[in-house]
Amino acid sequence: MTTPLEDFRQKLISVCQNCNRDPETVTLVAVSKKQSLTKIHEAYRQNQMDFGENYVQEALEKQQSLKITQIRWHLIGPVQTNKINKVIGHFFLIHSIDSYETAVEFNKRAEKNNLKISILLQINLANEETKSGQSKEELLKKWEDYQKLKYLEIKGLMTMPPLSNNPESSRTYFKELKLLATKLKLKELSMGTSSDWKVAVEEGATLIRIGTAVFGDRSS
Ligand SMILES: *Cc1c(COP(=O)(O)O)cnc(C)c1O
Repeated sequence: MTTPLEDFRQKLISVCQNCNRDPETVTLVAVSKKQSLTKIHEAYRQNQMDFGENYVQEALEKQQSLKITQIRWHLIGPVQTNKINKVIGHFFLIHSIDSYETAVEFNKRAEKNNLKISILLQINLANEETKSGQSKEELLKKWEDYQKLKYLEIKGLMTMPPLSNNPESSRTYFKELKLLATKLKLKELSMGTSSDWKVAVEEGATLIRIGTAVFGDRSS
């Protein structure tokens, strides 16, 4: 019998083959927010090393309980300024730097800790009020200033397109993110969730953030 995670990996391989991409270039980030330690451990035993969490407190508690140093923890939710200190040094990659001001705060605290941290800039392409992230225009306006934040390694961009029942409606946003990243010479593209990851892979995602499709429904 195969597990949902193994099934997902198979599907990912075939989607990659269909669009001529090497599956090794797409990292599956298993989004474990509101999932039990048991489920995370099961996935880890199936060689899953990248896990995504939205909430700082929940993530740190899970790290403490599991104590598995091989796991690469990704932070994919917004971080309040007063929690930034707790985050520094605890995540492999932070996907959700939502404004230049947030980046400045992260840079300050990284400098204090003398640590370089890897980040993605979250872009709100549809300029939705309800979503975090900076607009494309804000990013371009601040791009030179971003270069001065020496304790941040900007690896790429992240986006969450508007909710829709049709995964195809995400395509235009994924294309736009890819174009923007190419223009800025950024390599990583964190895009695609359980509902629209196939489209994201076709459009060049290097990190896909998958929760329910690998873990089932969340507990709350
Ligand atoms: C919860 C979440 C996901 C995963 O969503 P699923 O629909 O469960 O795959 C991905 N990205 C972000 C930012 C999330 O908050």
